[in-house]
Amino acid sequence: MKIQLLDPLVAQRIAAGEVIERPASVIRELLDNALDAGAKTIVASVTDGGLEEIKLIDDGEGIEPEDLPLLCESHATSKVRELDDLYHIKSMGFRGEALYSIAAVSKITIASSFQGQDPYQITVDNGRKEAVLPGGPRIGTMVTVQGLFKELPARRQFLKRPSTEATMARSVLLEKALAYPERAFRFISDQTVRVDLVPTTRKQRVLDVLSLNQNIIPSEMLELYDTAGRFDLYAVCSSPALSRSDRSHIKIYVNNRPIDEYSLVQAVTYGYGELLAGGSFPYCYLFINVDPTLVDFNIHPTKREVKLRNKAEIHHQVVSMIAGQIKRSIPRLVKQEMESEDAPLLAPLYESRPAAHQSHHAGERPGRYETPSQKAPLDSEWFQKAKELLEGNRMQASRSTETDDVWAQQEDEQEFVYLGQAFNLFLVAQKQDDLFLVDQHAAHERLIFDEVRQKKHVQQLMIPLSFEVERDVDAYLLESQDVYLNLGIKLERTDDLLWQITSLPALYRNIESHVISFIQKTTGDAQEVEKGLYAVVACHAAIKAGDSVDRMMAVSLLTKVFALDEPTCPHGRTFVVRLGKNELMKAVQRT
Ligand code: ADP
Ligand code: MG
Repeated sequence: MKIQLLDPLVAQRIAAGEVIERPASVIRELLDNALDAGAKTIVASVTDGGLEEIKLIDDGEGIEPEDLPLLCESHATSKVRELDDLYHIKSMGFRGEALYSIAAVSKITIASSFQGQDPYQITVDNGRKEAVLPGGPRIGTMVTVQGLFKELPARRQFLKRPSTEATMARSVLLEKALAYPERAFRFISDQTVRVDLVPTTRKQRVLDVLSLNQNIIPSEMLELYDTAGRFDLYAVCSSPALSRSDRSHIKIYVNNRPIDEYSLVQAVTYGYGELLAGGSFPYCYLFINVDPTLVDFNIHPTKREVKLRNKAEIHHQVVSMIAGQIKRSIPRLVKQEMESEDAPLLAPLYESRPAAHQSHHAGERPGRYETPSQKAPLDSEWFQKAKELLEGNRMQASRSTETDDVWAQQEDEQEFVYLGQAFNLFLVAQKQDDLFLVDQHAAHERLIFDEVRQKKHVQQLMIPLSFEVERDVDAYLLESQDVYLNLGIKLERTDDLLWQITSLPALYRNIESHVISFIQKTTGDAQEVEKGLYAVVACHAAIKAGDSVDRMMAVSLLTKVFALDEPTCPHGRTFVVRLGKNELMKAVQRT
């Protein structure tokens, strides 16, 4: 006989494998249940990264004692009765297989008081159900999971170190907490409170969570809203002054569920468009609320995938909300957007009349300046303003020639005059009969890129930098550590999944953590590693758009830029705009 029915426990464990992979998956499912039970305060704790114990306490409505023996049965759920219910899901859970799966691979105890009545509890030990007994919390539910995968050594072997597992569990909690700002969440690891989030607004919850790992200036985070027919959008996202070199902080939620939907992550980056330099990504927490009849989460047990019937429409709306509202939020960019839509390349330059931060002219009209194209300027004041600007700049330039001999001399040698910075983004220089606008961030990136390629100044680290990797990267590094060695980065394997950097070129100083996180997620070929790593490094060490640059820095940057053969950044974008004197003369109808 070749075909046999699986032993029920074996079948149960196979099914469990899809839902429960590690302590963080247990936390995810228990959190969902607590949220569905209407808990206002949720405390999750792990001992030894959850390998020893995971505990979740909530103050939700609790479980009726008669239901306790059913909880760990397959497809036991109070949330779906009929097939049709699947299309109106408002709860996190609906498949009724989480507790069943957890019970198959650990010893689980569920203790609960239903609406404040006498508490009861049940224990299921690796699929073996015990009797219901009195005892438990006075309100809500407490679920305790011990010895996860203890009877499945093959699975336990796939787990990481306890500290890493604890970090993953914490991330799951934070991810959920972002969607439920009006509820309190606490995370405890080995008896130490690691996260304590109090009820607050949506924006503040995002700030509270981000501030656990970094300093964020609240004013750099914006709130966007939009609504269209059967869905609405809400986002907390960064102004272009703040960005990062990866997409890890673009998070999409659909009906409060965090999902992995690349096309919507892309919609966010499209929305920012040119506001961020290549290789820079925003922080964006996007919450999409969609009519439940248009959504299907029932694709994968972990519910991280979703089918959206109106995805194209949502995609479009996300791009337009971000593109429109982010620009509007930055005073500097407003005019550019209003006027230069179809205007020639020159348009922004015409606007760079003495701007608000330089000098205020009494009676200066705020608002629109017509973009002069072929016809004569409509605004009679415009010509006067342009003249003042040019004179102002010349004065500024000549003034500094007097006071700042060294730099003047260097500029002479290079045959350019540095005129100043525009929009906190462009360095403006005059060289012979051309005016140059140089994107400072992209230019600096490119220069660093070149410097990095020469892999100068490799330094032996006094204290090696240790880090852990996933199984696939571990295998990759074993084979390909030479790829890094050729770039001046020396790697050594100290233990299973554990690596360290023992030497590193000086240029990577202060951004070691970015280098490490790059290594942790890369398995590409030598060329990909080279390009990717340089871009990451350049991105982090380079001056950002929005940084103000001092004269010395600007001149040294421009000197190097003018020495380049081909001014494109490591992402392939060009970063120099040249405006010929003739074109400019023509624009003001002078010949
Ligand atoms: P699902 O959440 O998909 O229904 P689960 O296996 O996660 O399936 O849970 C089974 C049932 O147990 C739920 O439908 C719910 O009725 C009950 N339950 C689980 N956890 C809790 C809790 N913390 N508070 C109240 N009820 C709970
Ligand atoms: Mg559930």
